Amino acid sequence: MKKTIRDYELKGKKVLIRCDFNVPMEDGIITDDNRLRASLETINYAIDQGAKLILFSHLGRIKEEADLAKNNLKPIADALAKLLNREIIFIDETRGTKLENAIEDMKEQEIILVQNTRYEDLEDKKESGNSQELGAYWASLGDLFINDAFGTAHRGHASNLGISSHLPSGIGFLIEKELKELSALQNPPRPFTVIMGGAKVTDKIPIIDKLIDKADQMIIAGGMAYTFLKAQGLNIGESILDEDSIDYAKELMAKYPDKLHLPIDFHVATDFSNEAKNRFCDADQIADNEQGLDIGPKSAEKFIEVIRPSKTVFWNGPVGVFEFDNYTEGTRALLEEVIKVEYSVLGGGDSVAAATKLNYKDKVSHASTGGGATLEYMEGKELPGIASISNK
Ligand code: AMP
Repeated sequence: MKKTIRDYELKGKKVLIRCDFNVPMEDGIITDDNRLRASLETINYAIDQGAKLILFSHLGRIKEEADLAKNNLKPIADALAKLLNREIIFIDETRGTKLENAIEDMKEQEIILVQNTRYEDLEDKKESGNSQELGAYWASLGDLFINDAFGTAHRGHASNLGISSHLPSGIGFLIEKELKELSALQNPPRPFTVIMGGAKVTDKIPIIDKLIDKADQMIIAGGMAYTFLKAQGLNIGESILDEDSIDYAKELMAKYPDKLHLPIDFHVATDFSNEAKNRFCDADQIADNEQGLDIGPKSAEKFIEVIRPSKTVFWNGPVGVFEFDNYTEGTRALLEEVIKVEYSVLGGGDSVAAATKLNYKDKVSHASTGGGATLEYMEGKELPGIASISNK
């Protein structure tokens, strides 16, 4: 068992908290603040306990100078200040005397937000490459480290693994909740149905392999489904195809004929766009110039029949291109049924983005804040950002 924030006396302590403020942004505007909201419980708890809070997060990827401005954490500092109704002292640097002096001057319940940890990647990938020097430096700024960034827990970076190698550490409420909800899926109330969607089969092979035996039913839809159709010898027109996974799809269908459920009709279009000419058609009627962008109503009905008797559903990846308003219907129809199931978990990333867009996010049992981290946890892999936290 890992120590949690509750296992430490926080009063007057300089508490370094690794948060996940990696929110989607457009032109400096936050388009979805779910991750900020999800971090509030830990932050508020530390404030209530009288800690001095020093918050770290990454935002986006930093490969060159041009990436700096668009991944500046300043808009996050402003948004967080509003959500907390408190002042956030934003330090536009990841190290140095300005940061050190600001921490030195802190009073209890004050909050510092450090600039994007990945600014350090500009020089030898210090953050993502877990530079020992950087982890030790950040650790030297505080008394205690709390990791609450589930979204990056599958990475061993300086701002999680690095810092925790040098300080007493614990997990925050967000990670604690993620682990509780996701571990419940190891022994789920049955029937247990898994819905796999999203774009590429290759990315999802490890998770399919892990869950196919555990699940009672598996629905495969979204962009992935066309590779399975192709493997059956059907024409998929211009639909997204993962050539390298055709043999895998064949094997899976042969091995699990009763467990695997594939779409039987589609909403197809003549272009990958919301405006293109479109129609509904059966799986064997896709024309050469068409591509499937969503499942059709017959598939939705078929999948709903599979979902209805389930007691647990784990869902990763939307069943259509939900970013286009005309292709949200399949995902919406399934969500409508999934929320009625006793225990429903959305496995992060785009499934949660879709549920947020369609107003279902708060109606499922758990919407994970992790994408890759959730999948790796479900695959049974150890997450370095959590493994390195002090044990009880
Ligand atoms: P993933 O990150 O693998 O879960 O993929 C999510 C993406 O898959 C979303 O951006 C969806 O738009 C996309 N997607 C879902 N269905 C399709 C489809 N039929 N064709 C192309 N992309 C799709």
